[in-house]
Amino acid sequence: MADPTLHGNGYACPACEMRREVEDKTQILRPKVPCNVCAGLGRLGYTEAEIVARTVEEARRVYWPEFEKRISEVCHG
Ligand SMILES: [Zn+2]
Repeated sequence: MADPTLHGNGYACPACEMRREVEDKTQILRPKVPCNVCAGLGRLGYTEAEIVARTVEEARRVYWPEFEKRISEVCHG
């Protein structure tokens, strides 16, 4: 299982976020919130397949528009 705390590997646990809204107003040195959903980690991980799919989607969004524009110019005049 990929580390859900790494950027892009997971997302904030919605159960913890709801509790933090009322219990925790600090941005740094946040106390642990006991949670049955994420076991107190505060993050839920994507599966490896979801991580790959999201990475490909982002690469397509960021890098491929210019490539596809060139291809369409060649193919369609
Ligand atoms: Zn949680």
